Amino acid sequence: MPFVDPSRVAPSYEAVVIGSGFGSLFFLHEFLKKPRSGRVLLVEWGSYKTHDWQVKNKANSVYETEDLYTHGPNEKSWHYSISFGGGTNCWWALCPRNHPNDFRLKSKYGVGVDWPLSYDDLVHCYREAEQVMCVAGPEDLDQHFPGTGKYPQPPHRMSDIDRIMKAAQPDKHFVLPNGRLSRPLGSRGACCGTAECRWCPVDAKFTALNSMQHVIEHPDLDICTDSKVEMIDVQNNTAKAIRFINGGREYAARGDLIVLGANGFHSPILMTQSGFTHPLIGRYIHEKIEYEVEAYLNGVNNFGGSTIITCMNLSLLDGEHRRSYGGAMITFENTWKFGLRPDYGRWRQILPINIAVETLPEFTSTVTRSPDGRPHVSYPQHSEYGLNGLKAAIEKLPEVLRPLPVERIEFRLIDHVPVHLQGTLRMGIDPTKSVVDAGQVHHNVRNIIVVGSSVFPTAGSAPPSLTVAAMSIRVARLLDG
Ligand SMILES: Cc1cc2nc3c(=O)[nH]c(=O)nc-3n(C[C@H](O)[C@H](O)[C@H](O)COP(=O)(O)OP(=O)(O)OC[C@H]3O[C@@H](n4cnc5c(N)ncnc54)[C@H](O)[C@@H]3O)c2cc1C
Ligand code: SF4
Repeated sequence: MPFVDPSRVAPSYEAVVIGSGFGSLFFLHEFLKKPRSGRVLLVEWGSYKTHDWQVKNKANSVYETEDLYTHGPNEKSWHYSISFGGGTNCWWALCPRNHPNDFRLKSKYGVGVDWPLSYDDLVHCYREAEQVMCVAGPEDLDQHFPGTGKYPQPPHRMSDIDRIMKAAQPDKHFVLPNGRLSRPLGSRGACCGTAECRWCPVDAKFTALNSMQHVIEHPDLDICTDSKVEMIDVQNNTAKAIRFINGGREYAARGDLIVLGANGFHSPILMTQSGFTHPLIGRYIHEKIEYEVEAYLNGVNNFGGSTIITCMNLSLLDGEHRRSYGGAMITFENTWKFGLRPDYGRWRQILPINIAVETLPEFTSTVTRSPDGRPHVSYPQHSEYGLNGLKAAIEKLPEVLRPLPVERIEFRLIDHVPVHLQGTLRMGIDPTKSVVDAGQVHHNVRNIIVVGSSVFPTAGSAPPSLTVAAMSIRVARLLDG
């Protein structure tokens, strides 16, 4: 492994990358393919913890996330992982693409803002990211997500419930693209639905540790772990170096290019403490509204699929309703997260459902630097747009589920623990309304690139990580000019 002691970092690097999560590693996946003039340094706050360590300790990190940030009174907690690999360790590997209209919400539906890039700009990069993650998915998604084609692995097996839905709604109900293998591959087993996904015992889901060795062991890369970056030094609108703490001592590393991928809480804090003052730094933190219900069924059994979330229903995802309220992705679950049905002989006649509703980011939702240096998150309320979307999704759910023999639908949870940290360094064309441009380059300091979900200007309809990965690949390709 190319881990270096911080006292031995080179005098200067062609690029210094902060963080080792989705944004950073997919940038490096593409960037390290190019011929270059110098070495590259990756500086990661967390420790490198092997897969065995994570399974044994039932943890992804030595840090408790709750100790790393503060939040407003009576507000929800958020979760992320400070570790080598970042969110690739703890994620659940659900990876559908964003819908093409997610990138043009303003021009198509008159709400929110447009992204400064389109689905078409990302389509080849989506494909590359899906190959790296070895995504298992169906072949019939092209009608909603053009250019999807054949996934690297066959789709996961549907449950009997999904098969009924698919027969009735072939253009709405699809196997969910998934970063958990449907077939064994190398040292990774196929997903067997045991639902310990944050530290998958058979290593079925994509993680940096099992699928990014070509990056981690690249001969031109030096890696410092257990090293928290505290400052980016900027002179005359050019970033010169970063400063980081390891073992209580401060070190510096110079770089021609600085790539900031420290997640949606810590990237804006790092910019603030480095003296950046753009009024939108730390603004617009957002996440979808997650609503969980259970449908009680008459005579149909659940839990026969080959992974824990088998299908997505796109009935409410996109359309003219997005002029007035948020779209919703409905996922069908293949695990008894709220227990089996208690009725004798009918324990499998129950369907847990997750409804993820799009919100509009609010200016008043913020991540700011608290006096002790930790991020302070204030997310006082969801947007009206999101709440109306949730109301509509609840009203329309019985219609969506019409193909099934539903006896009743019961509410279980709302906003359990948000895990998608989006929007705090938003991208855009206008430098007064965004922090980075369409290439994710800082508007003023042109040798800083921001990667990761912090640049999302709106929520999108899918979980963010595949889009983060595809965007990082695109950013590295854009450096070719
Ligand atoms: C339990 C859980 C389940 C999830 N499931 C899914 C899912 O199914 N699908 C999906 O799309 N997304 C999922 N996510 C979200 C996913 O993890 C994030 O979208 C993704 O990790 C964001 O990528 P990023 O590069 O922005 O940040 P990260 O992947 O979090 O990477 C940030 C990196 O920066 C490091 N870092 C932070 N601060 C510093 C600093 N000051 N100095 C040096 N390094 C620093 C961190 O340790 C980390 O390695 C899930 C998240 C959680 C917590
Ligand atoms: S369901 Fe089980 S096998 Fe599949 S990814 Fe989760 S922990 Fe791994």
